[in-house]
Amino acid sequence: MTTLCLGEELIFRVAIPIPVYSLFDYLAPANIELDSLEPGMRLEVPFGKGKKIAFLIEITQKSDLKVGKLKRVVRILDQKSLLSSKDLQLLTWASNYYHHPLGEVISAAFPAALRQGKSIVLKTAKSFALSPLGKLTLSTDLQRSPKQKSLLEKFQATLSSFSEAELSAWNINWKPSVKLLLEKQLIQVDIIAVKVERTDTIIRNKALQCNLQQQVAIDGVCGALGHFGVFLLEGVTGSGKTEVYLQIIHEVLARGQQVLVLVPEITLTPQLEDRFRKRFLVSIVLFHSKLTDNQRQAAWFSMQQGECSIMLGTRSALFTPLKNPGLIILDEEHDASFKQQEGFRFSARDTAVYRGKLLDIPVLLGSATPSLESLYNVDKQRYQLMHLPERAGNAIEPMMQLLDIRNKKIHEGLSEVLVDEIRRTLAKSEQVLLFLNRRGFAPTLICHGCGWVARCKRCDANLVIHFDEQRLRCHHCAQEQSLIKQCPACDSSELTPLGMGTERVEKVLIDLFKDKTTVRLDRDSTQRKGSLENYLQQINEGKVDIILGTQMLSKGHHFPNVTLVAILDVDSGLFSIDFHAAEKMAQMIVQVSGRAGRAEKPGKVIMQTRQPEHPLLTTLIKDGYRSFAKTALAERKEALLPPFSYQALLRVQATDANTPQLFFQAIIALLKKFDAGHTQILGPVSAPMAKRAGFFRYQLLFQNTNRQELHVLFDTLIPKIANLKQAKKVRWSLDVDPVDLY
Ligand code: ADP
Ligand code: ZN
Ligand code: ZN
Repeated sequence: MTTLCLGEELIFRVAIPIPVYSLFDYLAPANIELDSLEPGMRLEVPFGKGKKIAFLIEITQKSDLKVGKLKRVVRILDQKSLLSSKDLQLLTWASNYYHHPLGEVISAAFPAALRQGKSIVLKTAKSFALSPLGKLTLSTDLQRSPKQKSLLEKFQATLSSFSEAELSAWNINWKPSVKLLLEKQLIQVDIIAVKVERTDTIIRNKALQCNLQQQVAIDGVCGALGHFGVFLLEGVTGSGKTEVYLQIIHEVLARGQQVLVLVPEITLTPQLEDRFRKRFLVSIVLFHSKLTDNQRQAAWFSMQQGECSIMLGTRSALFTPLKNPGLIILDEEHDASFKQQEGFRFSARDTAVYRGKLLDIPVLLGSATPSLESLYNVDKQRYQLMHLPERAGNAIEPMMQLLDIRNKKIHEGLSEVLVDEIRRTLAKSEQVLLFLNRRGFAPTLICHGCGWVARCKRCDANLVIHFDEQRLRCHHCAQEQSLIKQCPACDSSELTPLGMGTERVEKVLIDLFKDKTTVRLDRDSTQRKGSLENYLQQINEGKVDIILGTQMLSKGHHFPNVTLVAILDVDSGLFSIDFHAAEKMAQMIVQVSGRAGRAEKPGKVIMQTRQPEHPLLTTLIKDGYRSFAKTALAERKEALLPPFSYQALLRVQATDANTPQLFFQAIIALLKKFDAGHTQILGPVSAPMAKRAGFFRYQLLFQNTNRQELHVLFDTLIPKIANLKQAKKVRWSLDVDPVDLY
């Protein structure tokens, strides 16, 4: 902060979470102690007719506005900043890099309650553990108080202590039961001292004996603890990556440091949390969108205070303040869900790497199918590659096979050859997994009489048939209606479902394999809370013979008894105008294949295709993902596409088709005043999905092989765009490093 003169008014320069690029000046509250002020503190400030939460950025005595015009800060909400200076540095960097207003970026780092200005009650964190009496008491003695019984069982199951944050994450209403168990002296209070974990108190279950490659990876990262470095752990599904993470985390914990583990979708991988809890005695918290605001706040705060050692979370967990940061891990680093797709469109992977650099700690990226960007960074020697080429234990890699279904008999999406394979597998009492990335009964309802198709009125899309619920639904907006029986155009009653969705295939399977159990896993069938866990449990207990599902299946689950995996429609991903599609397709195929034969039994993967000679498919199957990636990177280099250039996509939408054009004209007029250097500006064009949820959509693509030049342009251009009067009439956003051009 600048030197301040006595006697003059102090001015707070603050960031406010609104879509405005500039900071705001306010007069400091009266009678403040300068020493107590820190950047990052939350403030309440008058704004327009109301009040807003703001973040202190700087204290100064100069303002571009007349001091007399400035309003005064209402109050200071924090005694100390909840963010460290490194946290603020990271957020400022992200605001600059993604060209997103600083106030909104800082706001994104806080859980909802703090964002709204609620105060955190600072208290000594307590944790609770079984008392000697509790160890000897049978939980069935508490039969008549089920809540206390289940809590006691939680303590007895692990014999470890639980912090308040962990208990909140377990059940938000833990307090009454804890109070009663304390009164009965079945549990006791432990005040958590500063957590420097001793090795003998970290581990619950012993680590596995590593194979050579695992050991190399572990030693590589452990040797770099305390310094910045990015490691890419490439290993096929089942090669023991998670085991590697666990053993490295152990080392970090032994140094008294915290670990942040990011995964794409935590609710899809309940087993991961389980493995962490089984291995470690230390406190572990979760952070994802399915938790309540209170649970998220408790988890966030426990990391900020250093009470908790491990946070497992989704991309929004990335900004959680860490008292003693030691390591950041991103599992499935290739996954597109690490990129936020609305508002502040940051990439959790790239931002994690920057955070690691700021904190001077290693960042570990893991995947069976690394992104082309990360492989490119390995080539450039920015990331260090570690490879687990084989499956751990005795598991063997599955055999992949393309099944040419041209001119073959197909019954409801299943070829005869495939049906035979399924039958053979089931006869051996092994499980079958079928993958189709389309939920609903059928993607199209068409009239056999006149060709009319059920379209969404608000989107450029067909309505999807959901047969069980007798609904027609748009998968891009909330539009839905009941399933009609008569064509609205010609009154014919010959409305026909076209194409296959999971619901339709499920009906065929039940019909074909009457004495077998089929489970369907997609967004519709797992909507109810706990239903996914329930299905997964049934599958793992061997109560299910056929598992059918969408991409939900490709994420992290272990199905050891699955020996046949079939991808029903591999062709649908081969033809896309987005250059990312081939990469995503290849990753999806490999990920789904990885579900087969994870234990002792060898697995087989069958892909139904009408494109058996397609180079993407043949390279992938003959030579594996690495070869595919090499070819794909060479193609991108040829076309100067990312990672050989840098892109940013300006998306614009409005309820009519005209206002976006006026907005673009104004931008183009602005651009004439700049030297755009070598930045190529492509468009404006209609988005691939030209209308969505009632909005007409357009885009303008910026591309440059020089990242610096692109960002210098945006530094001046974006605030000017934001100030255009035409900008008020459209919705617009800038997506830096887009992973999806739709
Ligand atoms: P990934 O995360 O790469 O899918 P996991 O770490 O989940 O792999 O390992 C797959 C399976 O192999 C797990 O059941 C795990 O317990 C087991 N495993 C991992 N490493 C070893 C090892 N060194 N020896 C024996 N089994 C192992
Ligand atoms: Zn008709
Ligand atoms: Zn729609």
